[in-house]
Amino acid sequence: MLEIVPVKAFKDNYIWTLRDGKRAAVVDPGDARPVIDYLAREKLELVAILATHHHADHVGGIPALLERGRVPVYGPRGEPIESLTRAVGEGDTVTIPELGLSFAVLDIPGHTRAHIAYYGADCLFCGDTLFACGCGRVFEGTPEQMYASLEKLRALPDSTKVYCGHEYTLANIGFARSVEPGNEALGAREARDRRLREAGKPTLPTTLGDEKATNPFLRCLEPAVVESANKYLGARAADPVRELAVGRELAVGDARELVQHGGLEGGGAQVDREVGL
Ligand code: ZN
Ligand code: FE
Repeated sequence: MLEIVPVKAFKDNYIWTLRDGKRAAVVDPGDARPVIDYLAREKLELVAILATHHHADHVGGIPALLERGRVPVYGPRGEPIESLTRAVGEGDTVTIPELGLSFAVLDIPGHTRAHIAYYGADCLFCGDTLFACGCGRVFEGTPEQMYASLEKLRALPDSTKVYCGHEYTLANIGFARSVEPGNEALGAREARDRRLREAGKPTLPTTLGDEKATNPFLRCLEPAVVESANKYLGARAADPVRELAVGRELAVGDARELVQHGGLEGGGAQVDREVGL
């Protein structure tokens, strides 16, 4: 039976480990040591490595893992990652026959130029693009790209389990509450996730359904979110064009700026916490 286990690395990275009783694949091994320890403890053979983007806190452990035995290494086409055996992008399929798994590759640029996600078996591994109740900082792409990437992920089924690269949930919920103070689902989520953290447990995976109900970056057309975006933008509210902007178009524009704002402010604290950028 397949299990997906978070192996912790650095301060708040999760190296998602897909395993059965004998074999394992890892997603975004920023550090080799915790993976090697986990595999040894559980007597598992590593059969594949998947990377979502080139940041060191996601790929730094790959060379040391390969020293212990060659396995296929998948990662984004167009990013400088050493030791990839297969560079992939939108439309490609990654199969891990040893675990009976198959993932569609989605291009989700924004955090980095060619960031990808792996989607299959009702699971999404999305690195630093979509976080629980937040989104990644826009480092190499544009806010428009990030917005389009989030919309692409939002189109997946509500049941999709979302495995992100970092435990940022509580800080993100704080930002989300300031954006949408009246969102009851968000209040309930905060209580639940706070309990999980107090018990030392991850708040992940989340589901896309929960994200659609609480993540402001997937709720860019909600009136309360648009209103908050406008408040942040200050001057925009006084713009007479705003009077006419009841339609989708400006709302989308605002949403993009909210993504950018989240990248600059809501995500600001994340930079310090992200290792090895
Ligand atoms: Zn990153
Ligand atoms: Fe990261």
